[in-house]
Amino acid sequence: MMRVVDDAAVGAFERVVHAVDDDTGLTAVVAVRTTARGPAVGGTRFHAYASGACAAIDALRLADAMALKAAAAGLPVGGGKAVIAGDPRRLRCAALWRAYAGVIDLFGGSYYTAEDVGTTVADMAALRRHTPYVLGLADAGGWDGDPSPLTARGVVAAVRAAWEAETDRDDVRGARVVVQGVGKVGGAVADLLAAEGARLWISDADPARADAAAARTGAAALAPEAAIAHPCDVLVPCAMGGVLRPETVPTLRCRWVVGSANNQLSHDGVAGLLAARGIGYVPDFVANAGGLIAVAEQLNGWDAERVGERVEGIGAAVRELIGEARANGGTPLDAALRRAHAELVAAS
Ligand code: NAD
Repeated sequence: MMRVVDDAAVGAFERVVHAVDDDTGLTAVVAVRTTARGPAVGGTRFHAYASGACAAIDALRLADAMALKAAAAGLPVGGGKAVIAGDPRRLRCAALWRAYAGVIDLFGGSYYTAEDVGTTVADMAALRRHTPYVLGLADAGGWDGDPSPLTARGVVAAVRAAWEAETDRDDVRGARVVVQGVGKVGGAVADLLAAEGARLWISDADPARADAAAARTGAAALAPEAAIAHPCDVLVPCAMGGVLRPETVPTLRCRWVVGSANNQLSHDGVAGLLAARGIGYVPDFVANAGGLIAVAEQLNGWDAERVGERVEGIGAAVRELIGEARANGGTPLDAALRRAHAELVAAS
């Protein structure tokens, strides 16, 4: 039986639920940061965390990022996120999705889930059998339900915009790019950048994935620990968060950081450290909004053309943020936070 361990409003978070199911080994934390702009939308991360505290902190930080992402993209949804703590390869089964659906149902439609690290379209389809509050599903509009390729398209639009700010060139031909993590998003980013003529280096903690991406794209493979310090024009973090920390910033040898990973900065002040080294940083919650744009569309019917235009619009948004930062002397992160917070305040 699914059991709620805790269910409370916590600080700025509207609702945080911690639930377990002893039969299936489910341990889930669902955090809703805000529903002021609409139902909270954010994926389910299925990951073997080092501790329960790590899982809870991740859920809160990711829910916060989803609220900023939705507001920055002007989407009529709020921000939330869920984590399931444990190894998906060991725990994934039909009974676990049934138990987890009971946790999602507690929110009665104020939280919709979708794919994230460790979960797939097939997982969401299994969950949808037991709860209606699921997005990122194969759709009558012709979408296969996977947000990752659209996240990748948005990241590439953001890379192009940053590269244009650097060089006045509107294509990435010849740009030296390192993609860290070539999973669902990073793999597609590498494919798109290779097709556009960028010079690529890739890395992945899973050597088979790194080899496959290198063979597909002609990229050189780097050891995972060497990737972020490799000399390049654009570093594209597409693995886990926390890559940019006070101790890693001095090791970077790039001009821009633009990637899909959520929460790339260990804290917002790291953007200032990057700027002091002459490294531009496109806020992750702006660059990686493509997947959220796609799943949020599914609330009102899915239209491929409209989604494509919005995702490509991430490039224009990045150009605006870089322009605002240059005009006002701050960073693109300052500009993006100002805009997103204004949207959130206006809605609350
Ligand atoms: P994924 O699990 O498919 O891919 C992540 C890849 O990173 C894996 O191949 C993994 O082996 C690799 N990896 C992990 N640690 C690494 C390290 N230290 N060095 C190199 N490689 C490492 O996940 P994904 O869906 O591609 O998501 C990637 C990132 O983008 C995550 O941070 C996720 O939150 C974020 N994101 C994803 C989406 C989406 O649509 N999937 C949307 C927004 C943000």
